[in-house]
Amino acid sequence: MFELTILGSSSATPAFKRHLSAQLIHHHDRLFLIDCGEGTQFQLLKYKVKIQKIDAIFISHLHGDHFFGLPGLLCSLSNHERTRPLKIIAPEGLPEILEQLFRLSDTRMKFDIEYQILKSNVREKVFENNGLEVYSIPLQHRVYCNGYLFQEKSKPGKFLSEVAKADAVPVQYFHLLKQGNNVTLDSGRVLKYEDYLGPSPKSYSYAYCSDTRYIPGLGASLNGVDLLYHEATFMQDLKPKADTTYHSTAREAGMVAQEAQAGKLILGHFSARYQDLTPLLEEARSVFPESYLAEEGALVKLK
Ligand SMILES: [Zn+2]
Repeated sequence: MFELTILGSSSATPAFKRHLSAQLIHHHDRLFLIDCGEGTQFQLLKYKVKIQKIDAIFISHLHGDHFFGLPGLLCSLSNHERTRPLKIIAPEGLPEILEQLFRLSDTRMKFDIEYQILKSNVREKVFENNGLEVYSIPLQHRVYCNGYLFQEKSKPGKFLSEVAKADAVPVQYFHLLKQGNNVTLDSGRVLKYEDYLGPSPKSYSYAYCSDTRYIPGLGASLNGVDLLYHEATFMQDLKPKADTTYHSTAREAGMVAQEAQAGKLILGHFSARYQDLTPLLEEARSVFPESYLAEEGALVKLK
């Protein structure tokens, strides 16, 4: 299972029932939150998310619409007796903001926060567990900002026991070969695990890119991503405004998806000036037909 739920799709301010930026990744039985705009915990409640299962929170940048919901969510986790440490991956400054806030409000967390502070302008691995690796995606915004690439680890293919039996491989070595190890028999014969494994199952990837101006080359660096979320704050007629505010247009989001040869593009981070988002969708589709609008609460299945 690899699923995405968009909890907020509005930029700067809530508008037309659209909430501020936050997304939930569900990978097998683990949950990850990306950004945490104001009101995110209400969205988590609405969609009945088991918040104690969140392993890590990834914050893209320190504009309020992307993280003002974080103190409230952390307090709720503590009030609900979380004791398990929580990882927060974020730009410099976030620990100071939270420490000051907790100190002045006499708030004590019942769990440890393990920060991973990002400063680099090159892609780096920021999180890893058994099934996933997460990389930063350096973006270009008015403040230091990263997107995140969630990449499933590749798994060995199915063990071909019939092939192994036909090849007189002793049964006690099956599990080593299954796990991707070569085996040397007492006779000196070497068994190569690739000979006994089927093709690796496809590993899926998701890239979150918000907020940023259009970056030539970003798409190429995400080559083959299965699902791309890219901000589309404005339409092309407001390109000058997109430039001065370091945001992207729907057309530019489409260009990134096309350059990335992405499986599918989801547009989000919509300006409050647009009630009807159809024109943004059409603009992106004119460049990249597999474009869709972020729909809050809808489950997007990668697999
Ligand atoms: Zn921003």
